[in-house]
Amino acid sequence: MRRCVAPLSPLISSSSSSSSFLRQAPWRFNIWESFTTVIGNRVYDLPVPEDNTPFITFVLGGPGSGKGTQCEKIVETFGFRHLSAGDLLRREIASKSKDGSMILNIIKDGKIVPSEVTVKLIQREMESSDNHKFLIDGFPRSEENRIAFERIIGAEPNIVVFFDCPVEEMVKRVLNRNQGRVDDNIDTIRKRLKVFEALSLPVINYYSQKGKLYTINAVGTEDEIFEQVRPIFATLKVSK
Ligand code: UDP
Ligand code: MG
Repeated sequence: MRRCVAPLSPLISSSSSSSSFLRQAPWRFNIWESFTTVIGNRVYDLPVPEDNTPFITFVLGGPGSGKGTQCEKIVETFGFRHLSAGDLLRREIASKSKDGSMILNIIKDGKIVPSEVTVKLIQREMESSDNHKFLIDGFPRSEENRIAFERIIGAEPNIVVFFDCPVEEMVKRVLNRNQGRVDDNIDTIRKRLKVFEALSLPVINYYSQKGKLYTINAVGTEDEIFEQVRPIFATLKVSK
């Protein structure tokens, strides 16, 4: 079953609440009044007032659904800051931090890292960013993740983009991507797909019910898929 892209109306009315850290953060801008200019198809931010709020996009989809690839295109075209939760976790492993070996074991097993750990990594990146437009890729992966983000960050996403991809296509892409990842093998992929269905789909349904979900048919070339993604961001005042 293929879901339709939701109407764009929630964008107009959506607003985000802020925790104390968000209120203090340097990028707390008023997105609706930020001043940007477009040159070619690139968007350049001009200086904006000090009292603005962040614009948060969650980018969701199964393993290999194309989240990371499309995030790079959104960054290039609309000037967002891309935070891949999986990359932040892999960076923790590589830096041999105290949580590194625990994270590695969970990733190898296709399970979900404790919410506090992931949210703190995202929080650190958001706080130190001078960009106020965020793409949070591959998070939240469970209702527990979602609730922890709301509690710790004190904000909800403005929009959620879901890359809807058939299982066979996702498996094929993950097995062919050759990025040397410990979890890109058939056994771990099977486990990740089960986790996606059991724990991540409820999050996607939650945002669908809230009218925040934009569903993309994730089959096609990178450019074809981006042509579905582009209008979502092009209509946002924050992107202009
Ligand atoms: N992961 C997690 N929490 C997150 C994001 C990722 O626990 O919020 C772990 C989980 O084990 C997942 C793995 O990191 O299977 C890889 O996630 P990533 O988003 O990099 O994979 P992708 O979906 O892009 O293939
Ligand atoms: Mg990814």
